[in-house]
Amino acid sequence: RNLKKYFPVKSEIFKRTVAQVKAVDDISFSVEEGETLGLVGESGCGKSTTGRTILRLLKATAGDVVFEGKRVMELDAKEMRLLRRDMQIIFQDPYASLNPRMTVADIVGEPLVIHKLVTSKEEKYSKVKEILENVGMGAEYMNRYPHEFSGGQRQRIGVARALAVDPKLIIADEPVSALDVSVQAQVINLLQDLQKEYGLTYLFIAHDLSVVKHISDRVAVMYLGKIVELTDKKELFKNPMHPYTQSLLSAIPEADPKKKKDRIILKGDVPSPVNPPSGCRFHPRCPEAFEPCPEVEPEFKEYGDGHLAACHLLNN
Ligand code: SF4
Ligand code: MG
Repeated sequence: RNLKKYFPVKSEIFKRTVAQVKAVDDISFSVEEGETLGLVGESGCGKSTTGRTILRLLKATAGDVVFEGKRVMELDAKEMRLLRRDMQIIFQDPYASLNPRMTVADIVGEPLVIHKLVTSKEEKYSKVKEILENVGMGAEYMNRYPHEFSGGQRQRIGVARALAVDPKLIIADEPVSALDVSVQAQVINLLQDLQKEYGLTYLFIAHDLSVVKHISDRVAVMYLGKIVELTDKKELFKNPMHPYTQSLLSAIPEADPKKKKDRIILKGDVPSPVNPPSGCRFHPRCPEAFEPCPEVEPEFKEYGDGHLAACHLLNN
């Protein structure tokens, strides 16, 4: 609720704060139990920062995160440790997120030890074996090291590690972006199967809509620290309201020539979040910008049945 995460920019000489990077700037959304909310936007728009701030891996600048009625920002260290079991993260880069000096058994078993969910080595190994089988990896891999695996297998290990503590919410931060296209679908299918089996809730972060198309129930689109549109997935693909969403959709390759639409090419790159554009942050790149856009920030509000968007065009 109204979540903000600003990073100070320090002057090199005087070490004082000279500006703020407004990575996440007043966003509100909910994720329902058992659903997958896709969070989409170009790199640098604040998606990962949102995920990390929710988990308190980063300290929020303002706003609130409420998990099952508990205000996460106010929990003390002990309560937070308990909550860490319920909220897990899968990282983008399976190469960087696994300790190269640890065996698979120790990587996946570590959270079990930290959370005191096993009392002996034997118990740890038997639990790890079970979890590995659930992600499609056999027990024969237990004593191997991350470098011995392909990207897809490493991400399965990352998923196994997140699953080990029996979480409720998993924040999947671009879990397939670093993988070959042919492997992406396998990992997405695995995540979907696990969701059904364990009743998991996902916040699924991706930089393009084609990845979240299959897995999401609803999709939130972020641009420069703001959510600009949020709705049911089918509705978003059928009736995108925000020009930025429309441009993202137009970038998805379409096999059927009858459905082919012209690609909307945006001007320039994503501006810096240090001094984001005034009014609507998308206005310097928006093909439909008109006179209020550089001045007035559009309100993020509902335009029919759970379809939220922030654009002046919608009020005309
Ligand atoms: Fe474009 Fe204006 Fe809508 Fe922003 S408010 S998306 S600049 S039309
Ligand atoms: Mg990221």
